[in-house]
Amino acid sequence: PPVDGNGIHLPRDLPPLRILFLYPDFLNVYGDRGNLTALVQRARWRGLPTTVTEASVGTPVDATHFDLVLVAGGQDRAQQAVAEDFRRSKGPSLIEAVEAGCPVLAICGGYQLMGHFYRTAEGTEMKGLGLFDAWTEAGGRRMIGNVAVRAELGDARPLLVGFENHSGRTTLGARARPLGRVLYGYGNNGSDGTEGARYRNAIGTYLHGSLLPKNPTLADWLLQAAVDRRYGQGIRLPPLDDTVEHQAREAMLRKLLGPPLL
Ligand code: GLN
Repeated sequence: PPVDGNGIHLPRDLPPLRILFLYPDFLNVYGDRGNLTALVQRARWRGLPTTVTEASVGTPVDATHFDLVLVAGGQDRAQQAVAEDFRRSKGPSLIEAVEAGCPVLAICGGYQLMGHFYRTAEGTEMKGLGLFDAWTEAGGRRMIGNVAVRAELGDARPLLVGFENHSGRTTLGARARPLGRVLYGYGNNGSDGTEGARYRNAIGTYLHGSLLPKNPTLADWLLQAAVDRRYGQGIRLPPLDDTVEHQAREAMLRKLLGPPLL
């Protein structure tokens, strides 16, 4: 069996990490499903089994029974189709799970619905979960392009790369903390330099990509939080050889930022 980051053999018959992917039929743009693939594969490489449950509008699901939750991005119309179900049906147990340490990755449209509200350019307002003290209003100009972000994940401060395309401008309230600082691109609103939000182990971000295959440090941060939740503290994920992933990431960062910032 694989040896964990403490040099201890992982127990053989660990129960699977339970991953929940919400609204895959509505929220899934720019290859956001690749985040799920990356998590499952990075767990498998460590000999950790996973189960994946997909749940959409009308399917009741208790998020407290999961160890990691994904909500991806989508266009305004797709967000409208899921917003009520998200807030009323999935929201309460998702909030409970986050309060108990469950990691969540919410991208773009999904991120917007984790704040207080999202108001579209037509003035339609969708209420969100209020898990992040943040709100989003559509502006005239879409924010499109590659992004580089200095994230703050406890001791780790990885440089993340991704791709954004949104008209929503997100403002963080006093109780919210950003995922990181924009070094290239727009991030939350194109003006205050913040990108994304983090509350406990829940992360909201505008970065598509797919994000996690490109940013293994973030993928493992989420996976480690899932491992802690499932098996209790003490099992450290064994490191993987991410040479190729880091080369790809660094090539992109060099293009966006130039050599001195790297
Ligand atoms: N509809 C939202 C916006 O344009 C989110 C778009 C997305 O998820 N890419 O702001």
